Amino acid sequence: MTIAANVASVKQNINLALARRRASPVTGDTVKIIAVTKNQDASAVQVALAAGLIAAGENRVQEAVTKAAQVTAPEWHLIGHLQTNKVRQAVPLFTLIHSLDSERLALEIERVAAKHGKRQDVLIQVNVADEDTKFGIAPGEVEALARTVDALPHVRLAGLMTIAPYYDDAEKARPHFRELYRIFAHLKQAKLTNSSIEWLSMGMTNDYTVAVEEGANLVRVGTAIFGPRHY
Ligand SMILES: *Cc1c(COP(=O)(O)O)cnc(C)c1O
Repeated sequence: MTIAANVASVKQNINLALARRRASPVTGDTVKIIAVTKNQDASAVQVALAAGLIAAGENRVQEAVTKAAQVTAPEWHLIGHLQTNKVRQAVPLFTLIHSLDSERLALEIERVAAKHGKRQDVLIQVNVADEDTKFGIAPGEVEALARTVDALPHVRLAGLMTIAPYYDDAEKARPHFRELYRIFAHLKQAKLTNSSIEWLSMGMTNDYTVAVEEGANLVRVGTAIFGPRHY
């Protein structure tokens, strides 16, 4: 299959999942696909753009910076962990940082974004399944970090992200997605003044249809578009 055909089939699967989803007042009825281009070269980004996608997702800052010098994408998304010493490179490039996971990181993003005269959009990464191997904060810490970010003039909280545990049976991920949706809906009700809680980033190749059924409006898909990564 060509990449364009893969993108078409991902879109169709998303539409079928949306039809199964109960209408969601909190995440709307459209889903944006992020083409996860990590470990793919810049030409893969080009092909994804040609297939109609506008957002490229990378999990390493340096890899994204290198590719962005070779190909122009309308949006670059950082989906991997961000170390404070990489914030200086990350802020000028990324439309959305999905991996905010500490107050310290938020303050560093604020400092760098202020210098650039940018308002940096971020998602808080939540470790819903409480896995030791995953980054992200505990569900109970989300509101406090959200309030901290809400007070920062150059950082804008735009929603939540999670990476579910990998299961052969994607159904098993459903409770984790449902939990993140619950936290998201709660956050939308919280009286935040400078935030815009609109994006719920959950679902990857293995489980994006389940994530969409549970309310995702941003999915991060690599393998289903580009095939297996070669490490
Ligand atoms: C690699 C990666 C993805 C995409 O994974 P696939 O299984 O190839 O779709 C999505 N999200 C994050 C955070 C990733 O690191």
